[in-house]
Amino acid sequence: AMKNVLITGCSSGIGLAIAARLAKDDQKRFKVYATMRNLAKQDDLLKAAEEHVGKTLEIKQLDVCSEESIRNCVNSIPDRRVEILVSNAGMGLIGPIECQTIEEMQNVMDTNFFGLVRLLKEILPDMKKKKSGHIVIISSVMGIQGILFNDVYAASKFAVEGFCESLAIQALKFKLHLSLIEPGPVITEFERKVYEDGMKMDLSGADKETAEMFTNVYLKNYKSIFQSLGQTAEDVAEHTMKIILSDNPPFRHQTNTLYTPMTTLKYADPNGDLPIDTFYKMVFQHDKIFNASLNFIKLLRWRSKKSFDLGKNHS
Ligand code: NAD
Repeated sequence: AMKNVLITGCSSGIGLAIAARLAKDDQKRFKVYATMRNLAKQDDLLKAAEEHVGKTLEIKQLDVCSEESIRNCVNSIPDRRVEILVSNAGMGLIGPIECQTIEEMQNVMDTNFFGLVRLLKEILPDMKKKKSGHIVIISSVMGIQGILFNDVYAASKFAVEGFCESLAIQALKFKLHLSLIEPGPVITEFERKVYEDGMKMDLSGADKETAEMFTNVYLKNYKSIFQSLGQTAEDVAEHTMKIILSDNPPFRHQTNTLYTPMTTLKYADPNGDLPIDTFYKMVFQHDKIFNASLNFIKLLRWRSKKSFDLGKNHS
């Protein structure tokens, strides 16, 4: 029988890619309920998977900021049966906190953190009753480690990770699986929106040094970080599908091996200074070394892509 998968935030990016990938599964193992806040934005998903609509794919409205919309969506699924939940909807926010309003920050927490909480309040009781289910959460490497000028976004993903770490212990008792997918930079609308908002940001609330740091250091390097380290949404979808199909899915999964050395720094130093010093040096002291390491990463990326392609040919 097909497993019902409910995915949030499917009008673009990673959510769209996961919905399309699972709907296209050759073995037809999934019935995908691809949801989005605004159904008027379904064209890109249709472009990617229109031939599957009514078969392995249904498109539904769901706003993670509205309990009513979540309840209506789940009630519209036969027997409310959701075997796999992919909590993906989310938003970014960059810049100095002096230039952000509390309302903007609350909006990020409401979407990224309370969005997940609302979904689980609706779906978890059913899963517990059945003693089966898999909850997959698109978190971020920023759920492990903060980055300059991503203060509130990182806080929202830390909230997600802490919440899931606590819940995972209870879930085990009910034989439920919980998996946090932690991508590094992914080239999606997200990155474009966040960058454009950053460029438009009114920096008059910040002192000159902070404003310059944001424009001349952070925004200046932003594009090159995504270009050298960035993954595609399809790549993240491929990882997510493997986690969903795994008999014994891990609690945490990073999708970007080029990024793992950074997160490893956190685990290497219980005092917590090592990753902070390293980021500081990368950003403020060694602009040249920073560029050199980006070039090195590009080389690694090219090499690993080559061996990945080779591996594919042999299988
Ligand atoms: P995206 O902007 O393309 O996708 C986010 C989706 O969430 C959009 O379709 C948006 O409409 C939707 N959304 C926002 N608020 C919503 C709401 N209230 N209800 C329902 N849907 C809502 O960006 P993406 O990169 O595909 O992001 C997907 C997830 O991946 C997010 O949780 C993000 O934090 C995470 N992530 C992204 C990156 C990256 O670099 N792009 C890296 C790590 C993690």
